[in-house]
Amino acid sequence: MQDVYVDVLLPLSLSNTFTYRATQFSENLAIGKRVLINFGKNKFYSALIYNIHQQRPQGYIIKDVLSILDTQPIVNKVQLEFWKWIANYYMCSIGEVMAAALPSVFQLSSETLVAIHPDFNGDISSLNHQEIAILELLEQQKTANFKDISKTLGNVYVMSQVRNMIDKSLLILCEDIEEKFRQRQETFIELSTKYQNDESALSQLFNDLEKSKKTHQQADALLAFLALCQQKGIQKLKKSELLLQSSITESRLSSLIKKGILNSCQMPVSRWTYHSNTNEVDNIQLSTQQNTAFQSILNSFQEKNSVLLHGVTGSGKTEIYIKLIQHYINQDKQILYLLPEIALTEQIINRLRAYFGDNVGIYHSKYNPQQRAEIWQEQLKKQNKRFKIILGTRSAIFLPFNNLGLIIVDEEHDSSYKQFDPAPRYNARDAAMILAQKFKAKVLLGSATPCLESYYNAKINKYAYISLNERFGGLQLPQLELIDIKKASFAHQMKSHYSQQLLDKIQETLDKNQQVILFQNRRGFSLHLECPQCGYIPHCKHCDVTLTYHKKSNNLRCHYCGFAIAVTNTCPQCGHNTLEMKGFGTEKVEDELKQYFPNAKIVRLDHDSTRNKNAHNQIIDDFQNGRTNILVGTQMVTKGLDFDNVNLVGVLNADNMLNFPDFRAYERTFQLLMQVSGRAGRKKEQGLVIIQTRNPQHDIFKYLKNNDYNSLIERLIVERKKFFYPPWSRLIKIGIQHHNQDFLDTASAQFATILRKHISIPIYGPEYALITKLKNKFRKEITIKLPINKNLELYKQQILIAIQETRTLKNYSSLTFVLDVDNY
Ligand code: ADP
Ligand code: ZN
Repeated sequence: MQDVYVDVLLPLSLSNTFTYRATQFSENLAIGKRVLINFGKNKFYSALIYNIHQQRPQGYIIKDVLSILDTQPIVNKVQLEFWKWIANYYMCSIGEVMAAALPSVFQLSSETLVAIHPDFNGDISSLNHQEIAILELLEQQKTANFKDISKTLGNVYVMSQVRNMIDKSLLILCEDIEEKFRQRQETFIELSTKYQNDESALSQLFNDLEKSKKTHQQADALLAFLALCQQKGIQKLKKSELLLQSSITESRLSSLIKKGILNSCQMPVSRWTYHSNTNEVDNIQLSTQQNTAFQSILNSFQEKNSVLLHGVTGSGKTEIYIKLIQHYINQDKQILYLLPEIALTEQIINRLRAYFGDNVGIYHSKYNPQQRAEIWQEQLKKQNKRFKIILGTRSAIFLPFNNLGLIIVDEEHDSSYKQFDPAPRYNARDAAMILAQKFKAKVLLGSATPCLESYYNAKINKYAYISLNERFGGLQLPQLELIDIKKASFAHQMKSHYSQQLLDKIQETLDKNQQVILFQNRRGFSLHLECPQCGYIPHCKHCDVTLTYHKKSNNLRCHYCGFAIAVTNTCPQCGHNTLEMKGFGTEKVEDELKQYFPNAKIVRLDHDSTRNKNAHNQIIDDFQNGRTNILVGTQMVTKGLDFDNVNLVGVLNADNMLNFPDFRAYERTFQLLMQVSGRAGRKKEQGLVIIQTRNPQHDIFKYLKNNDYNSLIERLIVERKKFFYPPWSRLIKIGIQHHNQDFLDTASAQFATILRKHISIPIYGPEYALITKLKNKFRKEITIKLPINKNLELYKQQILIAIQETRTLKNYSSLTFVLDVDNY
């Protein structure tokens, strides 16, 4: 017989695939199933089958697959093609894409151990011989990993066998029990079969029970059970619900079970609670303008795959999305609705559930791995999927779709669609275009401030362009006031970082029982401590950044690596006995405002205040329902949120964003200011936006005042051409890192020389990165601007070859290369 080989993916960056022999499993192999393999000396991984063939690889000793982990593939072929595209385009390995794509519960490794469940009563009478073998093994050695078990069982479906036994409460996973996917089980109660279809037996039973005083109560309990079943129109009731919703006590229930009148059984249940819809999509009355836009989108989709919907803040884009979703549901298609931030999904989920109830599944990192795995499993089904609509952040593009009809990329300009670290450094908006192509699905990009590239793509007719330029209900866009804080502080009209004018407006708004949003793009209490005598500033030990003071924990923390030190009052450099606070962040704003507005309830939305699982939800819900009055936050408060009662938005300092050394700073700042302004006055009356700046003459404010997004973008497109920036070129950034600075200087220069040999276009650098040292590594970077119409693939290959060549030089294998394509 000829040997069979599998090429598998491992979550490693080394190479795309690794080949193993799988002859003994040849009948059960399938692309997309996981196998257990031995890697290196003594590491074990669950690897994913990428290809099956009969070509024996040459040049190394080939190992055997140890077992097959799945009975059905957990990844489909379209996904694998999509992963391959991402790996090629973003220059990483497919295994790295897999690591980002697969929920952690599917990624087992050598460390995964099982043990006998503590509740197991030792009764093996109903178990099969494999189960008994596993239990015997575990009697002997307490815990076992998958390799031990495969050996014991002679290498068959270990994982599914183990999972079965876990479901039956025979085994438990030892470490991070919650991490591995298993269906949640609940106890259900039903009428035993002998009474189910036999009315006369049932009435005889009631007669018997009612005869004696002792069993009379059991008859009542049984009646209550049957009544509840009838009311719900089901035959099996969850035990927990039964006890809660009827007068039945635990003891009466157990005597009915003992007598064989009721049965109790374990059944899998969803970890996602049920939601029913409260409204119908047909009830949405689109305004004339919305309706025109909706019809144009449908028409455009006849000819084009992608549409850019440019609708001002509050124009009611979401209502249009909802109509579109219904349109695709009617055609039995799946819909993927992407949002850049978890905070936003919390609000939209409620709006979607109102219309689509239980058909909406939600997928992002704040849900536990079990819940995410359940969504994944559900999507794998060919039919009767529960979730027709998936609402998620960027990682939702990795779900196993099979019938995708529409992808909505809401707030498409948002840089959170880009993953920076680790690889794959992909942009979900751009990758969504490719995903859609694979399904012949349509993409709708929506934003009040489209990113320059999308705007440009619409301009050159790659996308259809549809605009909505008025707010729903005919409301005016908010009024804008600029406050010159340089002038104000000369005139002594500043209290800390707030102009008197802003404070007055906040008071006025609160007096009218309306709400305020304040935006400050730094978190923490104060930027840093500084010695007034020698100028010493505490820095991170591992990164070239200043440490940020956090009041709550009373320490100085690095926002990049988490390094923290206690606050000291003496300067370690000159011994001076006070260190001063410089700069200010959200936590300080919250603190100071409490003093100025003692009666207002102030809440903060930023990275620090939302660490807990439900924190986002709570903060947004409280604000939405008026339990809090002022919301202070970082860029999290600027995005897409829809509150009815916010009338004032304050931007405490617009300048530090504009001064950021990046060619996108202008575009980004403009988008951010326009978006944050867009949170004001959405429902009742025109809102007010106050922006504090040292530079009110800056022309960005002219465009902002006139709400003239298009003119600004047109101007930026021209400017970018001069400097050969995107959309006129494609950027690839190559980071080169090493813990020894001198070595890095030499090595990066040498790499640049090699690179220049391989590609004939100008390369920029190596220069030190904005943060020269991060997590103990020094960082340099090289930027390449690739011409659009030239063969991109070829350049990328040359870059990879140059890296390979550099790595093979003596001592150079310890260099880290970080490739970032379309670095935004
Ligand atoms: P955008 O996403 O364009 O900024 P939203 O979709 O959040 O705007 O809409 C702004 C507000 O107007 C929301 O509260 C929304 O419910 C309301 N709205 C928009 N369109 C309609 C409509 N056709 N009927 C009722 N309310 C609408
Ligand atoms: Zn650090």
